[in-house]
Amino acid sequence: MSALSVNTRSRQAIAAQDAAFTPLEIASDRCKGCELCVAACPYHLLALDRDVVNALGYHPIELHDAPSCTSCAFCARVCPDAVFTVYAPPKREAAK
Ligand code: SF4
Ligand code: SF4
Repeated sequence: MSALSVNTRSRQAIAAQDAAFTPLEIASDRCKGCELCVAACPYHLLALDRDVVNALGYHPIELHDAPSCTSCAFCARVCPDAVFTVYAPPKREAAK
């Protein structure tokens, strides 16, 4: 197998891994819609989901651009209700 096809396979594997990765788990039923996390996200990736009402009667937060999330956890640090679980991005092998 050529080095080129190995690199192509590696890139495909990384792309598949990136597509499957979810940086944030959101416990929507604990969200009270205070929007502290909206202000804290440096990339403006969070917004209230105006189409949904949660068990507490609020519009819960949603991540609207998951691929742009850096797992910085600023949102989790400011949330008073522990709504977020943040996952580190998958490690990648160094390119050969
Ligand atoms: S982890 Fe960081 S980039 Fe991702 S939504 Fe939270 S504040 Fe924004
Ligand atoms: S800071 Fe927490 S409770 Fe407030 S809107 Fe964001 S996720 Fe919901």
